[in-house]
Amino acid sequence: MMTDTTAVADLITPSWDYAPAPEARGLATIQASYGLFIGGEFVDPHADTSFATIAPSTEEHLAEVALADADDVDRAVAAARKAAKGWQKLSGAERGKYLFRIARLLQERAREFAVLETLDNGKPIRESRDVDIPTAAAHFFYHAGWADKLDHAGLGPNPQPLGVAGQIIPWNFPLLMLAWKIAPALACGNTVVLKPAETTPLTALLFAQVCQQADLPPGVVNIITGAGDTGAALVAHDGIDKVAFTGSTGVGKAIQRQLAGTGTRLTLELGGKAANIVYDDAPIDQAVEGIVDGIFFNQGHVCCAGSRLLVQESVHDLVIDKLKTRLATLRLGDPLDKNTDIGAINSAEQLERITTLTDTGTSEGAERWSPDCVLPDQGFWFRPTIFTNVAQASRIATEEIFGPVLSVLTFRTPDEAIAKANNTPYGLSAGIWTDKGSRILWTADRLKAGVVWANTFNRFDPTSPFGGYKESGFGREGGRHGLAGYLAANDDIEVAR
Ligand code: NDP
Repeated sequence: MMTDTTAVADLITPSWDYAPAPEARGLATIQASYGLFIGGEFVDPHADTSFATIAPSTEEHLAEVALADADDVDRAVAAARKAAKGWQKLSGAERGKYLFRIARLLQERAREFAVLETLDNGKPIRESRDVDIPTAAAHFFYHAGWADKLDHAGLGPNPQPLGVAGQIIPWNFPLLMLAWKIAPALACGNTVVLKPAETTPLTALLFAQVCQQADLPPGVVNIITGAGDTGAALVAHDGIDKVAFTGSTGVGKAIQRQLAGTGTRLTLELGGKAANIVYDDAPIDQAVEGIVDGIFFNQGHVCCAGSRLLVQESVHDLVIDKLKTRLATLRLGDPLDKNTDIGAINSAEQLERITTLTDTGTSEGAERWSPDCVLPDQGFWFRPTIFTNVAQASRIATEEIFGPVLSVLTFRTPDEAIAKANNTPYGLSAGIWTDKGSRILWTADRLKAGVVWANTFNRFDPTSPFGGYKESGFGREGGRHGLAGYLAANDDIEVAR
């Protein structure tokens, strides 16, 4: 529980405290060790190597997970290739049935998935329970509906699958990113080899069990666990027809270089430094909620996080006062507690990155503020932090921090807001807060960002395409547009293979 240091917050901080409301940890069964999921079964890795996955909130050892090497990648790709023919031969309606079945199983086992995600990732159970798992199920439901309607997706007559997709996902939304990748690939008739992030493999491995439970034909989904080398081996494999990557811009660029000229299709969903623009006519209390949701949701481990607040100068002090008051009420602590707002940072490495970048904020002259809160002794934790008086060119205004850190800049005119918002190598998302519909349209038209939210932030829906411009990547996930990344038009089937 946080206690506030400001006079305003003292007035509204309740004198009572929340009783602990922990979710039952026993809902999730964690095996001592996990193999690789290849060809519909769990198998030992070729070199008999493994790595540990831990709970970032306590540093407790959760399980040993198989480490896949290049030979294991080869086995997984071979299994996916073998399964591809049969999977493509199924009618769209038959494929759709499997996706519906998976979606329903995700719903049935939602509490188990939520507890496991929270343990392995460190995010609050409120978020895994209310956002990650339901949205993952929604992606399977949505794409199940597309499986027999691909002819009507506006992507040409009789669109064909690409073949085998190699998919690499990060640690911030482990199951949800898996769903964003696997659901459209399968709906379009592809088979997949997916590598989850090294620090969060457990829900992907539980998903493998769901594939078995759904009687998904062996080899349609293969899950190989490991670190960056495993991902690199997957990208380098010449049996892959498509690579879909979500992660850092640095690794995304390396993958793009590696695949240039190979004919392997590629979609990249990379970093961001989104501007969240608050005009002086905005409903300020709602905007403050949106700012909090924009940057402190999931500890700020969100590629589309509203990490740069652009606030009109005339309302700057009011917005910052209200924001500090609101931050003082956030509860940081045990991620399994249903009252927790801010969970643990996913890894020691990420905590180190956040700490280093925020230290540069102070040394570059910005003013730093955090609510006074007690951090747990064990695990990886970072106080929600606001920087004001931030220079446009400073590192905290330009680089993705990927943590609960907000950089506040000001503007005087709408043109200045646009110039500052677009002054970034990224182009993933943005937010606009104003009372006027015309101003929303005027602003959204001028923002170079793949997703623009108005008077809200961080809303995700499978029907809506998501993706970026510039160094935030290319290709879209979700919606009709997302199908295009897994289908070949008739005339490029030869090229794609
Ligand atoms: P990475 O880009 O390194 O990791 C993303 C995924 O790619 C993981 O599965 C990772 O494996 C894998 N990977 C790593 N190296 C390679 C490679 N050479 N070839 C193929 N796959 C690879 O991100 P990090 O986890 O290291 O995070 C670093 C920074 O990236 C963060 O601070 C944040 O700024 C940004 N980031 C952005 C995300 C986004 O959604 N935009 C998501 C995650 C991070 P492994 O986990 O085993 O290393």
